[in-house]
Amino acid sequence: MESYDVLIVGAGPAGLTLAKELATEGVNVLAIDKKQEIGAPKRCAEGLSLDGFKRAKLKPKKEWAVQKIRGAKLYSPSGEFVEIDYGKVVGYILERKIFEKDLAREAAKKGATIKAKTEAYDFERKEKEIIAKIKEFDEEKKIRTKIVAACDGIESLTARKLGLDTTNNLKDVDSGFQYEMANIKIEDPELLHLYFGNKIAPRGYVWVFPKGKHYANVGVGIAGYESRTAKSYLDSFIRNREELSSGSIIEANAGGIPVGGLLKKMTADNLVVVGDAAHQVNPIHGGGIALAMEAAIIASEVITEAIRKENYSDSFLDEYNKKWWAIRGKALERILKIRHMVERMKDDDFEILAKNLNGEDILTLADANVAKTISIITRKLIKHPSLLKFMLKYLKAKE
Ligand SMILES: Cc1cc2nc3c(=O)[nH]c(=O)nc-3n(C[C@H](O)[C@H](O)[C@H](O)COP(=O)(O)OP(=O)(O)OC[C@H]3O[C@@H](n4cnc5c(N)ncnc54)[C@H](O)[C@@H]3O)c2cc1C
Repeated sequence: MESYDVLIVGAGPAGLTLAKELATEGVNVLAIDKKQEIGAPKRCAEGLSLDGFKRAKLKPKKEWAVQKIRGAKLYSPSGEFVEIDYGKVVGYILERKIFEKDLAREAAKKGATIKAKTEAYDFERKEKEIIAKIKEFDEEKKIRTKIVAACDGIESLTARKLGLDTTNNLKDVDSGFQYEMANIKIEDPELLHLYFGNKIAPRGYVWVFPKGKHYANVGVGIAGYESRTAKSYLDSFIRNREELSSGSIIEANAGGIPVGGLLKKMTADNLVVVGDAAHQVNPIHGGGIALAMEAAIIASEVITEAIRKENYSDSFLDEYNKKWWAIRGKALERILKIRHMVERMKDDDFEILAKNLNGEDILTLADANVAKTISIITRKLIKHPSLLKFMLKYLKAKE
């Protein structure tokens, strides 16, 4: 039986970062992915901010950081917009298929073993270790390991099979659908375009993330419990936009986004859960690449220590929960509060915000700086007392 210190199930941004960090520390690690190609198919709009790069300890490379981003334009249902332009690069649109392969190559270079088209389907505990049952192409195998890292994304089963219930509540999942479109018209490819409104995207938004002047990821995220599909919302939107309607669809992808339900506990004996599998996604915009990678870096420190000390117990691995919540979890909890407020807004409220707030105000709101937001909206929404009262109720609530 093959034996590893750590078995990583899922080789997306979380799993590949964890594999690289552990291998760098000399940990004997295997990362497997059921896909036949690392990075493909993608289920992502591929946006990553410079702040995200920093937290993920990444530097943009020209082969996969394909489009510079300077800011964003946020549209209300009637077409009013707020423009946020920093006048300098604040992020990139990635070519994720190339990006993830690059992460995989780097992890392998450091000594990690990576296997595509290899799926974990069951686990059993034996004394202090785990025996994982995997299928490598058509061959069934058993792997002995000390720690399993569940980096298997939103459809994660690994944690549950090892006794930790990470099931998403339906109300905490958005449904995403996206086309990669060519031959469309984009005025300024250095700006993201985000469209809000309950008829356009209930509880979410439509995005156009450019990958050039005539080429973009065009997608929608809506509440997972909506009876109409995300695809039908996106198709209606595209049909009604002159700059998109005659474009060609060169790729389609769909996926769930765990935008709520942050987990307090992401460990059990011999188990650590990272990335989408642990619901580590920004509740406002649904971005999870940087958070998955940041969490993987934190997890790698705790796992390395656990291997050195030969202690794979939940109480030892609990350090990962503590560190994550101190470094990132608390901030995400505040952002979730803002999300709960925004998702109860009516179309008229979006119009008032678009008319009264500027780009900087919107950033403060999205950043969940509650004290600053209260001061801004109190000044700017004074003529709209019912919206002001509604927002203050959410912002001042303790929970
Ligand atoms: C439509 C859409 C748009 C998005 N846009 C953005 C964006 O612009 N920016 C951003 O930052 N984030 C975005 N996200 C979120 C982002 O894609 C995820 O947060 C990110 O991929 C999480 O990384 P991960 O490694 O945790 O999981 P994943 O990338 O989902 O990787 C999990 C891997 O596990 C594998 N796997 C699952 N089960 C098994 C098994 N049993 N055995 C072996 N392998 C298994 C899967 O094949 C997969 O490759 C978007 C998501 C969606 C759905």
